[in-house]
Amino acid sequence: MSVKPAMPLKERMKHAIADETLIEAVKKTTDRLEGGKLASSEALGNWQEWREQGSRIRSHVVQHLDYYLGQLIQNVKKRGGHVHIADTAEHAVQIFLDITKQKNAKSVLKSKSMVSEEVHLNKALEEIGVKVLESDLGEYIIQLFGEAPSHIIIPAIHKNRYQIADKFSAISGEQISEDTPTLTAFARRKLRQEFLEADIGVSGCNFAIAESGSIVMFTNEGNGRMVTTLPPVHVAFMGMERLLPSFEDLETFVNLLPRSATGQKITSYVSVINGPRKEEDLDGAQEFHLIIVDNGRSNILGDDEFQEVLNCIRCGACLNVCPVYRHIGGHAYGDVYPGPIGAVITPLLRDDMKVWGDLPYASSLCGACTDACPVKIPLHDMLVHLRARKVKLGLTPGWERMAFRMYRGSFANPGRYRLSMRAAKLMVPFMAKDGYIEKGPLHMLGWTNARHFPSPAPQSFREKWAQLSAELEGPKGGDSK
Ligand code: SF4
Repeated sequence: MSVKPAMPLKERMKHAIADETLIEAVKKTTDRLEGGKLASSEALGNWQEWREQGSRIRSHVVQHLDYYLGQLIQNVKKRGGHVHIADTAEHAVQIFLDITKQKNAKSVLKSKSMVSEEVHLNKALEEIGVKVLESDLGEYIIQLFGEAPSHIIIPAIHKNRYQIADKFSAISGEQISEDTPTLTAFARRKLRQEFLEADIGVSGCNFAIAESGSIVMFTNEGNGRMVTTLPPVHVAFMGMERLLPSFEDLETFVNLLPRSATGQKITSYVSVINGPRKEEDLDGAQEFHLIIVDNGRSNILGDDEFQEVLNCIRCGACLNVCPVYRHIGGHAYGDVYPGPIGAVITPLLRDDMKVWGDLPYASSLCGACTDACPVKIPLHDMLVHLRARKVKLGLTPGWERMAFRMYRGSFANPGRYRLSMRAAKLMVPFMAKDGYIEKGPLHMLGWTNARHFPSPAPQSFREKWAQLSAELEGPKGGDSK
């Protein structure tokens, strides 16, 4: 699916940085999430070993994805479920629309699913007049605002409770107070009837267990269970890499995922769905469909530099520690996955460096994302590889290519290096103040707008060395006595 953001990255960032409410809301929540993660991982103990194990399991699955996908498909079918493989976003949407048509469905109720966001399911349903409603509180809020999620785990992270109360008041025509219990009670009241009336429930899938054909969801609000059990049809969207071989492997992720995502020891609900309802079951959907979405993932398979990014468990921990994300929030990234994981995976999934090649530059390369990642994905290395890919494709601006050619030319040759240092010094009186350049020329202005650039020293090391040597040697032909 060809998706293009409405504005260039720099413009999107400028808008975000100017929004103080957004920055404050994002900072407050990411601080809380990160603090919770540190405390709960420390309480668990041996966190690095858990990470090591998580990384090992996920790498093993991704390396043997064909085998585990085959096993999963076989086992879901054995349990009476239907499996669909979607190569692209359009294909995934078409599969869902066909199910909707077959069931003559008029209303769809969703719990959180980033893959359904990735394929833009809601838009397609609205276009054919099917009512689609989000039931996760955060997703419900941003649906009312007509926005996309701005965090993988907390979709409405950029909104504060006053903004939410205003929106709820506007849609209900009554004054809703901004205290959190009132806001949640309002959403609950609004959604309750919808759960009972929906024709199809849509969920995501945190993990699918290959050995049993089960899907596993970690949720906190209970809406996931309602969506997957009350409507007669349940459709789960799953990124094709979100597999685990067995329940034994799930144990590692029960420890890693909630702690990394929300700082909880475990989420309020961990639901395991084993296909459609059986005669002896008390509840559950009568029909179960699993849509396994590729949408660019298989392009990453086998790529030594990037395959590991498929290990991602979408916990959002890399977002919470990223100094760039914390200043601009999620929408500035322009697509469904924000933060460091988004800056890596969006250009790869979209397979379009021309449109998305700026995203890997939305990073200070501090490495905080890599340290935070529970499955040890080397995100900051990948950001550098993506920048290199952009250069190789000739997609960087002409002035930048020229500047780096000049840089290489002068630093690779001692004579040219000395000459360029002398030239730089000649510029100093025009630009520097108290040892710093506060306003650089041309493209250097972008750098100096935010920080001061140290001006070249009045005397180079070589010049100082020559001077010192001359002083130590003393005047030639002089008498030292
Ligand atoms: S890259 Fe790592 S930290 Fe970021 S969302 Fe994925 S698993 Fe979580």
